[in-house]
Amino acid sequence: MKHRQQYQGVIDRYAAYLPVSNKTPIVTLQEGNTPLLRADFLSRLAGTHCEVYLKYEGLNPTGSFKDRGMTLAISKAKEEGAKAVMCASTGNTSASAAAYSVKAGLKCIVLIPKGAIALGKLSQALIHGAVVLAVDGNFDDALSRAREITDTHPITLVNSLNPYRIEGQKTASFEICDCLGDAPDFQVMPVGNAGNITAYWKGYKEYARQGKTSVLPKMLGFQAEGAAPIVKGRPVKDPQTIATAIRIGNPASWKQAEAARDESGGLIDMVSDSQIIEAYKLLAQKEGVFAEPASAASVAGLLKLAKKGYFKKQAKKAKKIKIVCILTGHGLKDPDRAIKCIEEPKVVKPNSKAILGAIGY
Ligand SMILES: *Cc1c(COP(=O)(O)O)cnc(C)c1O
Repeated sequence: MKHRQQYQGVIDRYAAYLPVSNKTPIVTLQEGNTPLLRADFLSRLAGTHCEVYLKYEGLNPTGSFKDRGMTLAISKAKEEGAKAVMCASTGNTSASAAAYSVKAGLKCIVLIPKGAIALGKLSQALIHGAVVLAVDGNFDDALSRAREITDTHPITLVNSLNPYRIEGQKTASFEICDCLGDAPDFQVMPVGNAGNITAYWKGYKEYARQGKTSVLPKMLGFQAEGAAPIVKGRPVKDPQTIATAIRIGNPASWKQAEAARDESGGLIDMVSDSQIIEAYKLLAQKEGVFAEPASAASVAGLLKLAKKGYFKKQAKKAKKIKIVCILTGHGLKDPDRAIKCIEEPKVVKPNSKAILGAIGY
């Protein structure tokens, strides 16, 4: 039997589309190649004319899509002789930067907004040995400081302002197209700092240009109501949402997000925290998928649009329309949130009679 070569991560798989050469030391934890799940319950909710898929990015090595960009950003930093990297982070970027820095032998410094990141993410940055500083401010403050410092010191910025992050992240759109045989009709995703919507749109356009696909999806981005600068058309000073990964008031890739929206004929809208929680529970309880609250913003957005009849209006005659929701991060990142929105386990006496009574037998 022929021995199939083991999967080696997104740089190896999509090298032809990435700014790498055979001199680039590839730093990988075998990110990417994540499942594209057919969502039966959501498809029924969205309407008979819809086929909904979930791109489960929570199954990346550190539990979020950030790994796709980080493998390239860290590989290039290494190639360029960097000794240290820095990022500001709502959590997942720091988790990813910390892990890939270990693999590359680089020092990693992360600035997090004090008290505003999920416990799972903080634990990752700490256990991987990053220097973690909690800035007494919000994410936007932390990012400003990280930009200032990396501009004037020999430290590489690995936020999504680093163009290699975007390049690496666009591989997710390649995977979706490779899996479906063409681009989907719609892509729904959360928008925070807006690097990811920028990356996906770039990927879709490149694949179409190469003749790999025949259509371009409409890009549908969702911000949280309390952190919706793009929807409102102005920065939000004190962004608030339980979806900490998208709690951002002044997105770095604002212009590019608007370009993705406008060039694709899509939209950027917002969902409330209660809509996010509802979608979060629905994903777990009807699809068997545990994603973090920010990720559920995509499904909350899907349901908001479906209710308004948005997809009905867009339906083609014979063919079902394909909608992909991006689930950006794993639910285990933020276990406190799950426990908070579900009833605590009932305590029973240690005998079968009590247990059977409690379960109605
Ligand atoms: C980073 C992140 C986002 C937001 O992505 P942007 O590129 O900042 O728009 C959404 N969800 C999760 C889980 C994230 O980690």
